[in-house]
Amino acid sequence: MLGKIEVMVIAGTEAYNLDFGGFGRVVGSTVVETPFGKSAKVSLIDMNGISAGVMSRHGERGYSISAPFVNYHANIWAAKELGAKRIISWNGAGAINRLLSVGDFVILDDLIDMTRKRDYTFYPDRGYGFIRQNPVFCSEVRSALYQAASQFSPHVFRRGVYVCTEGPRLETASEIRVFDTWGADVVGMTPVPEVYLAKELEMCYASITYISNYAEGLVKPQESKQEGVFGSLLPADEAAVLKESVQLLPKIVSTAISLLSEERDCPCVTAMKKYRDRGDIGDDWHTWVNTENS
Ligand SMILES: [Zn+2]
Repeated sequence: MLGKIEVMVIAGTEAYNLDFGGFGRVVGSTVVETPFGKSAKVSLIDMNGISAGVMSRHGERGYSISAPFVNYHANIWAAKELGAKRIISWNGAGAINRLLSVGDFVILDDLIDMTRKRDYTFYPDRGYGFIRQNPVFCSEVRSALYQAASQFSPHVFRRGVYVCTEGPRLETASEIRVFDTWGADVVGMTPVPEVYLAKELEMCYASITYISNYAEGLVKPQESKQEGVFGSLLPADEAAVLKESVQLLPKIVSTAISLLSEERDCPCVTAMKKYRDRGDIGDDWHTWVNTENS
């Protein structure tokens, strides 16, 4: 019988090429049946005595599910069902801020949501969901991620604003110029709605981004025959740097998990408290969500 997990890792682009043994000892795997359909496959991993799950957001064999089509509800439900109190995600993103280079890591601290047609809530018909997004990402998990990443790379940025677009298409050069004036540092397609959904079920969520390419219009596109989702956007030397950074992610994430204290002292724990205090919801989170029409 597989035990409960403490943390769920949602691994981003290139996860399907990684050896999950890099996180720790793989002890099994499961797929969770949820009211929203099947979750992504969860590899259950013993990370230095801490039970964690790892799922590949974009599929098991290559980039088969693009960002708008990920079953975010099923994946976040699965994390909660398996017992996770925290979620750590990673994602590849394009650099908008000129200080950033391919292979750098950014611990996200804010978000501009430019998605257009995702399902943003577990509570469409219940009147819950007025949940603060300042901070968007859990500061406890962010700080562990920063500490861990700094052990493995000199190129770690403590903060960064992520603009999340709908996709699957990439952005136009004009869109990037606008995002730049808004103060966005990186652009990608994935933390929305993961972070909102995690918070609605009172789980912590933080994300480490690695720079996989330069946003459109910032660097002249160059010819390349590199493989992978972002490879065609990069010259060969940068593709090698990118590969190295991706290989570090399991180490960074498992180290961050070992740095987290067991008790949480952050607003994520009480995200739904006002509804509990009002008597709108009980202790069993399953009953918070109306699953009849899902
Ligand atoms: Zn938290």
